[in-house]
Amino acid sequence: MVAGFGRQLLVRDAGGGQFIAVTRGRNAQVTVGDLVRISVLGSGQAVIESIQPRRNEFKRSDAARTKRIAANIDQAGVVIAAHPPFSEELLLRVAIAASVAAIPLALIVNKCDLLEARAAIEPRLAVYRGLGYPVIECSARADPEATRGVLGPWLAGRSTLLLGQSGMGKSTLINCIVPQAGLRTQEISEALGSGRHTTTFTRMFALPGDDDGAVIDSPGFQSFGLEHLSDSERAHAMPEFATLLGSCRFHNCTHREEPGCAIRAAAQDGRIDAHRYRLFLRLADESLALARSRPRRA
Ligand code: GDP
Ligand code: ZN
Repeated sequence: MVAGFGRQLLVRDAGGGQFIAVTRGRNAQVTVGDLVRISVLGSGQAVIESIQPRRNEFKRSDAARTKRIAANIDQAGVVIAAHPPFSEELLLRVAIAASVAAIPLALIVNKCDLLEARAAIEPRLAVYRGLGYPVIECSARADPEATRGVLGPWLAGRSTLLLGQSGMGKSTLINCIVPQAGLRTQEISEALGSGRHTTTFTRMFALPGDDDGAVIDSPGFQSFGLEHLSDSERAHAMPEFATLLGSCRFHNCTHREEPGCAIRAAAQDGRIDAHRYRLFLRLADESLALARSRPRRA
């Protein structure tokens, strides 16, 4: 499945044939990247008969529901930039979602031509490099050629999901990697009858000249909910917590005020980054507040 809008789905077969498909069940949830079996009805129409088991799925959620963004991907890249300033909280949220789904994540730092702004965020990038995230630097608008050069080897032969806060230059980047992306999005949009909502759906593009490579573009976001995760899942998704989690005095430690908290101690003496620790606590606060406000079953 390469794109969907409402109940209309766009499916591509191995030969490049394209079909507008619907599912049989109202509630069958097909996601971009899903491998599906279809019955062809003729004139480009098809019905989705079944979805193959997914090897992974990248999800986000809000208070109302959990949303799959894409499935069966090899890796994800989060596009950030120094101007306008990226939100490290959003970056952390994406990194946690990726880690829980066991999907490798790279930071794609765009707009590196803005030298001063770029230099100002270097200390934060260094933290992420130190945690093991690949940091790929590019300038999609200022130097598309070099951008294709650095991203090419990372993208080659893989299915990659690109995510990003709005304004970071993700659309520019997609257009740099897939020259026909704008036009193809319009075609998809027309086929699905989505009208002008061209950037409100996730869509997959084959990489030019690469039969196995694909890039999935997802709508730019201003928030990224992690409602679907437990406290423990969030904590385990922090790479710097990994060796410390068993060392807190209480096994159900929330890593705040508890005596003998190994995480807090590490944040205080600089073994783990204090800013990421604060952001982690903010996510925990939010999760607690939502849990309290949620209606309970009688
Ligand atoms: P999106 O919301 O992430 O899809 O961002 P866009 O692709 O629409 O880009 C947002 C703004 O950043 C636009 O004004 C782009 O021209 C600009 N932009 C994109 N890439 C670069 C870059 O490499 N350098 C600079 N300086 N600006 C860029
Ligand atoms: Zn603790």
